[in-house]
Amino acid sequence: MPLPSTQPAERILLGPGPSPVPQRVLRALGAPTLGHLDPQYLGFMDEACAMLREVFRTRNALTFPVSGTGMAGMECCAVNLVEPGDEVIVGVNGVFGTRMKDVMERCGATVHALETTWGDTFTLAQLQAALDAHPKTKLVGIVHAETSTGAHQPLDGFADLVHARGALLLVDAVTSLGGHELRVDDWGIDAIYSGTQKCLSCPPGLSPVSFGERSLARMDARKSKVQSWYLDVSMLRKYYTGGGGGGRVYHHTAPINMTYALREALIMVLEEGIDQRVARHAAMHQRLRAGLEQMGLSYIPSRSLHSLNCIRIPEGVDDAGVRKALLADYGIEIGGGLGPMAGKAWRIGLMGYGASIRNVDLVLAALREILHR
Ligand SMILES: *Cc1c(COP(=O)(O)O)cnc(C)c1O
Repeated sequence: MPLPSTQPAERILLGPGPSPVPQRVLRALGAPTLGHLDPQYLGFMDEACAMLREVFRTRNALTFPVSGTGMAGMECCAVNLVEPGDEVIVGVNGVFGTRMKDVMERCGATVHALETTWGDTFTLAQLQAALDAHPKTKLVGIVHAETSTGAHQPLDGFADLVHARGALLLVDAVTSLGGHELRVDDWGIDAIYSGTQKCLSCPPGLSPVSFGERSLARMDARKSKVQSWYLDVSMLRKYYTGGGGGGRVYHHTAPINMTYALREALIMVLEEGIDQRVARHAAMHQRLRAGLEQMGLSYIPSRSLHSLNCIRIPEGVDDAGVRKALLADYGIEIGGGLGPMAGKAWRIGLMGYGASIRNVDLVLAALREILHR
């Protein structure tokens, strides 16, 4: 058999993730592999965790990258914070809220779905009504950046309502970390997870998480063992923070080279400045939006994310055909609609390194030309 010889093409990734990865991060990925208990490697990991705290804007000691993609972070938060029989409220207004509900149910939780139309977001009054209806709620899970619909969920005031009931606030920040304003400590978020391949512009493979004091207390008070051995934070924290006495203990072999890549990606975030990076995402969203609206295209969500632009496909336009032409003729990937939005929406991601004038103007020109054909 002839040996495989195809090389990956250099695409312009403007879909819902992964996002374009800068050469600097790819080079870091290719550095020599160290042992996972090598003091030099532990130093790199500590640096990555310290930078993650800055990017999450938190002082939470328990902040580290879970081995696995964003979904692993979601499962990690769920299995550690929820015990069988717990009542949980999950905001369901897209694919990722739907998944969070499923994951919670698999942990044995009784999930009360707080639902709204896909593309809409939740108000404080809706959350309050759900908490009133389910006073035994122990955790509220909400998606900050719903990548399936492009909706941006404001979180101001959420933690106060949740904490007034003694519940925890869990936030999915997979598509907001590094692209949108996000303040874990100021906003009172108790547990949060993200992913490397969206606004951090790193390949997929790690899921940064952070747990606050309330979450630690909840984990310490567990009556049942965490169902997942791999994601059990009581063991993971001994490796990542050396906490619990006894120093660093082997749990699983950390994805060494991915840690290099994340560390480099975080250096790039902090070199740029978090505020500057958030402002760049906002400016690129405005530029894209102005161009799309000039072409007669309209947005679906009322509160649009900057990192993910979800637009209505005009009547009579061939969804798959346009995306195929973008990929074949321009090397540009954008996303189609998911669930009820399949065939009705395009999703254009402007995440991290991908959020540039060059990419915005290119995708606008390409769409204009293809729609003209
Ligand atoms: C992408 C995404 C996830 C899942 O991340 P994976 O890296 O695909 O596992 C979870 N939540 C949201 C909001 C996402 O956009």
